[in-house]
Amino acid sequence: MMKYVGRFAPSPTGPLHAGSLVTALAGYLDAKVHQGQWFLRIDDVDEIRTVPGAAEAIIAVLMRLGMRWDGEVIWQSRCKSLYEKAAASLVEFAYPCRCTRREIADSRIGIASDGAAIYPGTCRHDLVPGRIARALRVRVPEPSAPAAVIRLDDRWEGMVTFNLAIESGDFVLKRADGFWAYQLAVVVDDAEQGITHVVRGADLLYSTPRQMYLQKLLDYPTPQYLHVPVLRNQNGDKLSKQNGAMPIEISARDDRAALSVLLTAAQFLGLSLHQAQSVEHFWRIAVPAWRNFLECRTR
Ligand code: GLU
Repeated sequence: MMKYVGRFAPSPTGPLHAGSLVTALAGYLDAKVHQGQWFLRIDDVDEIRTVPGAAEAIIAVLMRLGMRWDGEVIWQSRCKSLYEKAAASLVEFAYPCRCTRREIADSRIGIASDGAAIYPGTCRHDLVPGRIARALRVRVPEPSAPAAVIRLDDRWEGMVTFNLAIESGDFVLKRADGFWAYQLAVVVDDAEQGITHVVRGADLLYSTPRQMYLQKLLDYPTPQYLHVPVLRNQNGDKLSKQNGAMPIEISARDDRAALSVLLTAAQFLGLSLHQAQSVEHFWRIAVPAWRNFLECRTR
């Protein structure tokens, strides 16, 4: 059996909703199929967006649904010294950036694959000296350099090729408000926890090449990735706490409600498990169903 260490890493910006449950379910089943470990990490590095009590609410729902994680819950906000150390070892690739968001947007150089404005490289060459540095950025290779091309063999999406210089540009490691950026924190955490398999929403597919680039610079192994489709609302936007996704709320003894929530998430992933009679029965049949599903996809 191959080594398998997975994780679910929700941002506590609100309670668990149907979209985040799909990701949790896929990751949990994937870990079980591989007889691996599954960790729970609370991605609260962005302390500005953290909603008090949201992490506890997410934890309570996972427990209610019978999703047990291994070991202690990890909190990003308690790992800042690790991010500091990783950033210090990237000094030769990083530079302080003095640009404002407005200036970057106004440069109109282009929009990165994840919708953010591509950084025009102004502070790479120290063009606006005298201003206080706001953020810390990492330099990416020139567009024609072989190292700019990142190939991701995603377990769901297949091969995705990405040119960091064209589709991302130099990206932020430490934000202007002093918080560590998601891209750095996630890479450090995954390496610290020995994560071998990442299962998460396809909205993060285009962040992955940036993370793979940091893994190379930091001499970390690259996990295998599986990006599952994201649940969208009627407008076609990713279902999120920000656009009003309904929180999952299940009272303590309501097994039918818990089962119905799990069945909806499973169905979205393409698993038809409607014969499940209880939550306990759901888990018994869901694990082999995910195994079959993966086999059919790769055939
Ligand atoms: N915290 C991110 C989210 O809730 C997921 C990060 C990851 O899985 O890498 O969307």
